[in-house]
Amino acid sequence: MSAYWRIVLASRPAGAPTLDNFRVETGRMPVPTSGQLLVRTLYLSIDPYMRGRMSAAPSYAQPVAVGQTMEGEAIAEVVQSRDPDFHEGDLVRSKVGWCTHAIVDTRHVSRIQPDAIPITAYLSVLGMPGFTAYVGLKVIGQPKPGETLVVSAAAGPVGSLVGQLARLAGARAVGIAGGAMKCRYLMTTLGFDSAVDRHAEDFARVLQELCPDGIDIYFENAGGATWPAVLPLLNRYARVPVCGLIALYNGVSQAGRDWLPDTMLTVLRRSLLIRGFINTEFVSEHYSEFLREIEPMVATGRIRYREHMVDGLDAAPSAFIGMLEGRNFGKVIVKLVQ
Ligand code: NDP
Repeated sequence: MSAYWRIVLASRPAGAPTLDNFRVETGRMPVPTSGQLLVRTLYLSIDPYMRGRMSAAPSYAQPVAVGQTMEGEAIAEVVQSRDPDFHEGDLVRSKVGWCTHAIVDTRHVSRIQPDAIPITAYLSVLGMPGFTAYVGLKVIGQPKPGETLVVSAAAGPVGSLVGQLARLAGARAVGIAGGAMKCRYLMTTLGFDSAVDRHAEDFARVLQELCPDGIDIYFENAGGATWPAVLPLLNRYARVPVCGLIALYNGVSQAGRDWLPDTMLTVLRRSLLIRGFINTEFVSEHYSEFLREIEPMVATGRIRYREHMVDGLDAAPSAFIGMLEGRNFGKVIVKLVQ
C-alpha cells in the first residue's frame, strides 16, 4: 500500500464544469505525524458548494487552488493513528477531499459509531445537508400549523428534510423538483402534500394552483427561473430562508427581465423576511439538538431519505456535473469500498 489516488482541480470552469476541469493523480502514501490519522475514504460526499470552490470569485470560503485536491467531506476508516484516542478501524467523518487516502488532524474529525443507522446517513440526512435543512427551517422558516411551505430542489438531501420537517410542524409542504418521478417520490414516499415539476411548461400556473392560500415560507435552494413563479404568491410576513441558488452557480445570465425591482417592492409591501445563511454559522448553537431530534426519527423510519450512490473515485467528476444538472435522485455519494 504505497500509492494513493486523488482528483485535483485541473482548471477553473468557465460556466458549467466539464470533465476537463478535473485530473486524476497518484502519489506516495502520506504518513501521519503526532495528532494525525492516515484514513482511507469509504464514502465521499458530493455537494453543490463544490462549484463555488472551483471558482476564484469572492465567496464565504477560500477556493480550491488549481492543482489542489478537490474539497469534500467523507466517511473514512482509520488506517494508521498517531493519536492515542483513535485506533485502526475506527470510523470518522472529516474533510478528506476527493482522494482514496488522506492525512487528517484529529481536532477536525468526528467519530461515527456504526449502529442501526447506515453510516452514509451521516453525509446526508444526519450530515451537513440535513443540518442545513433543520437549521434553516428552525431559525428562519419557523413553520406553523396550517401554513404553506414551498421548497425547491425538494428531492435532494436538503429539500427532502425541509418538507418532512415542515409537515411534522403542521404546515403544508409543496415540493418543486425536476421530473415526474421525483415529484411522485415526494408525495408517495416523503408525504409532501403536493409537488410540481419545474420543467413543466405551465410550472408557474401549477404552483399557484397548489398554493391556493399563498406561500408562507419559501425555502430557496434554486434561484433562477423559480423565483418569478414564487414571488407573486408570497403572503404577508412570509419567510424566505435563502439556502442555495444552484441555478446561478455557473454564472449569472445578463439576459432577460431584471426581477430585483419586483422583489424589493414585494419585500416592502408584504413585509417579507428574506435571509441568507450558511449552515456553519449555527453549528455551535444547534448541531447537538439537531442530532438529538433527527437521529431517532431516522432510526425509526419516521424521516426518510434517499441516496444516489456512484462507484469509484473516477466517477466523482461526472456525478458532480450530473448533480448540477439535476440528474441525481437523492444525496450524491461516491462509494470507494467494495
Ligand atoms: P441536491 O441533491 O438537491 O442537488 C441539487 C439539485 O438542484 C439538483 O438535483 C436539481 O434538482 C436542482 N437544480 C439544479 N439546477 C437547477 C436549476 N437551474 N434550477 C432549479 N433547480 C436546479 O443538493 P443539496 O440538497 O445538497 O443542496 C440543495 C441546495 O442547498 C443547493 O443550492 C446547495 O448549494 C444548498 N446548500 C446550502 C447550504 C448552506 O449552508 N447554505 C449547505 C448545503 C446545501 P431538481 O432537478 O430535482 O430540481
